[in-house]
Amino acid sequence: MHDEASAVFSHIARNDHEQVIFCQDAASGLKAIIAIHDTTLGPALGGCRMYPYASEDEALHDVLRLSRGMTYKSAVAGLNLGGGKAVIIGNPKTDKKETLWRALGRFIAGLGGRYVTAEDSGSNLADMETVRLETRHVVGVSRALGGSGDPSPVTALGVFSGMRAAIEEGLGHNNFAGLKVAVQGCGAVGYHLVGHLVRAGAHVIATDKDQDVLARVAADFPVEVTAPEKILQTPCDVLAPCAMGGILNSQTIDQLRCRVVAGAANNQLGHEQEDGRRLAERGITYAPDFVINAGGIINVASELEGYYNPERALAQAQGIHSTLRTVFAHAKEHNILSFAAANELARKRLNAINSSRRIFRPAS
Ligand code: NAD
Repeated sequence: MHDEASAVFSHIARNDHEQVIFCQDAASGLKAIIAIHDTTLGPALGGCRMYPYASEDEALHDVLRLSRGMTYKSAVAGLNLGGGKAVIIGNPKTDKKETLWRALGRFIAGLGGRYVTAEDSGSNLADMETVRLETRHVVGVSRALGGSGDPSPVTALGVFSGMRAAIEEGLGHNNFAGLKVAVQGCGAVGYHLVGHLVRAGAHVIATDKDQDVLARVAADFPVEVTAPEKILQTPCDVLAPCAMGGILNSQTIDQLRCRVVAGAANNQLGHEQEDGRRLAERGITYAPDFVINAGGIINVASELEGYYNPERALAQAQGIHSTLRTVFAHAKEHNILSFAAANELARKRLNAINSSRRIFRPAS
């Protein structure tokens, strides 16, 4: 028992997590882990993932990795939020029940606002609204309940604004007219991104493995359509991955025929270091995913400011353009990869805020 506890502690200490909470409720079947990575900037915010993890170790590893990523994502986006995440060990197709979400909500309530949850893969809006019956510390609920609702239009605007910075960096101009942009995945974010691109005069080559999704985007916008298996090899100026993660890897990077990669998908690089380097060696400018897709978190952060203001969220998402310019400039100045530059800028902000706390502030 003593050895197991110290193994967990060394795991948690490795990435400097503040607090990890194991939540168990036999009546509802809840088995969850909440990880609070860093609250230097504010409450730890991150979604709740429900997944049938093969082992508890796998679940712990995932929640630690994801919560740490949230610290960096919010810090570089300039948000006053820390990094956290929750995982529920279970199958979202078969194990969901009202009591499970309510039990999770009660555990989150017990943290008094140190952790704020939201929707993630395996959880949905309805689940978050059940969590909300037990705690205020949940965001991304529907507009009808005073929440921010669907984040994808804000995410798409952020990606579009960030893409402008990426083409400035990679192509030396900021003009979308006539630019060939290949969009992989035209779901919630991809659809709105295509709209921005078409309105800006870009030539969009779209794909989706779901024929209905592809038919909808082709009916609504003048796009060229291609098969999902052809998109990565399509000659274009910009590739916008807006489907799933891990698509930039040792097999795919050699096939790319673009000069810039800028899209919404999370965890695009199979291996951060190796695949980031592979892209750089091919002369491809890469907009780090956690910087360019921050519109989603910007949207829910706006909800935490008292009431949700869509105009403010959209304006902040446009700020991703200047954030990415700073990231690229930092990378160039220090001769490092763009994602490493983004991580460094996040750490710099965390350190600066931490050091400002040396000034005594009497209780007000
Ligand atoms: P979504 O499920 O609505 O859309 C994804 C689309 O990709 C689907 O239509 C799916 O059919 C398609 N797809 C999946 N695999 C494909 C493949 N191999 N080839 C072509 N198409 C494929 O998801 P979304 O909300 O639009 O999110 C897209 C990505 O952006 C995800 O990686 C998500 O994690 C990330 N992201 C989304 C948001 C947001 O606000 N929704 C915020 C940040 C990051």
